[in-house]
Amino acid sequence: MSHIVVVGAGQAGSSLVAKLRAEGFDGEVTLIGVEPVPPYQRPPLSKAYLLGDMTKERLYLRPAEFYADQNITLRTSVRVTGIDPVAKIVTLEGSEEIAYDQLAFTTGSHPNTLPAAIGGTLDKVYTVRDLQDADAMAPHFQAGKRALILGGGYIGLEAAAVAAKKGVAVTLVEMGERILQRVACAQTSDYFRALHSDHGVDIRESTGLARLIGDGAVTGAEFTDGTTLDVDFVIVGVGIKPASVLAEASGIEMAAGGIGTDAFGRTNDPSIWAAGDCASLPYRGTQLRLESVQNAIDQAEAVARNMLGAETEYRAKPWFWSDQYDVKLQIAGLNIGYDNIVVRAGDKDGSVSHWYFRGDVLLAVDAMNDPRNYMIGKRLIEAGKSPAAAAIADPETDMKGLLSA
Ligand SMILES: Cc1cc2nc3c(=O)[nH]c(=O)nc-3n(C[C@H](O)[C@H](O)[C@H](O)COP(=O)(O)OP(=O)(O)OC[C@H]3O[C@@H](n4cnc5c(N)ncnc54)[C@H](O)[C@@H]3O)c2cc1C
Repeated sequence: MSHIVVVGAGQAGSSLVAKLRAEGFDGEVTLIGVEPVPPYQRPPLSKAYLLGDMTKERLYLRPAEFYADQNITLRTSVRVTGIDPVAKIVTLEGSEEIAYDQLAFTTGSHPNTLPAAIGGTLDKVYTVRDLQDADAMAPHFQAGKRALILGGGYIGLEAAAVAAKKGVAVTLVEMGERILQRVACAQTSDYFRALHSDHGVDIRESTGLARLIGDGAVTGAEFTDGTTLDVDFVIVGVGIKPASVLAEASGIEMAAGGIGTDAFGRTNDPSIWAAGDCASLPYRGTQLRLESVQNAIDQAEAVARNMLGAETEYRAKPWFWSDQYDVKLQIAGLNIGYDNIVVRAGDKDGSVSHWYFRGDVLLAVDAMNDPRNYMIGKRLIEAGKSPAAAAIADPETDMKGLLSA
């Protein structure tokens, strides 16, 4: 009987094994994860779960019984330490071996950390990647505490919003010229800077960390501009790197920093596949990694079908969201290479969307509390339609009408 082994029991791993069964695969399926819990969703870790508005059980992607019911062997609390692609054997911590016919890497990514030399290993310095991280930092989210957040990307900003809501005095430091610089236009940065300022968050851009201060636990920080700050805890949100070391050590080719795959999700070894944060896929003539729930699910499902012989190319349709205070940001498309931004006010107070163009081509939309224009933008991008920038900018334009134009 054929055996499919999936390494990494997160969003992509869970979707992949579920899809194998949904497609009728009746061979052996093993899903292996180092975390002690069944696969769960990570977005609430910096949103509702961190705020205390969501229970642990609601994080689980599927009920724990699902795996047994589907005859899927879920191995938790165990790390895969080696792959022998010639003998087709996976080695687990403790040297247990499992033979496979096909294997998928869904190992996700690791948060970047600060070097020990600048205080990165002091107590009360946290990253936000897994349930353990969220559980460890949540007790500090109390009125009167002082938090330093390093990094003005989505995770840092979401953690800042939760902390501020809890009455924590928050300072957020961003090394780049502006928050969200890597992922969004200046207009979107301006929107979120103003939102956080309105909630009392002290955002300091173009400011680097010189070192964290403390004896055992962190008590302060010194910045590159020479200023210092007293703090009770620190959250480091300075990006992630793909968990690709295991694949690389097994001789799998890397691309764009992740596990290189073709459009089917297959690596250079025809029996080995990859999906989710760790995978680098072809996209408009280049290879890139996408760090989002939607990609983890869609790519994993495509890989499951292709493992069973479908030979269907995965075409990423990027979308992403972020929740901060009462604002829901929805993003459709990928803005890489944009050279023009069009701002469109929404129908409701405070709702607005930012439209990214490269020349005449519509690339992406950021919509703040504007689900209607988000949906219109998403459908236009997916259909490959590019309305004129002037039409988007014109308040008289019937936006829905653009879909049929
Ligand atoms: C705090 C936070 C907020 C986020 N918010 C959003 C959001 O709002 N919207 C959005 O679209 N995306 C969001 N994301 C990103 C999204 O959660 C990820 O893109 C998604 O989880 C990727 O799924 P994955 O399966 O590739 O990786 P993961 O879900 O990380 O799963 C990988 C699993 O593999 C395990 N693993 C790794 N190596 C091994 C090994 N050698 N042996 C065994 N197990 C191993 C890991 O422990 C992990 O459990 C957020 C992420 C975080 C951390």
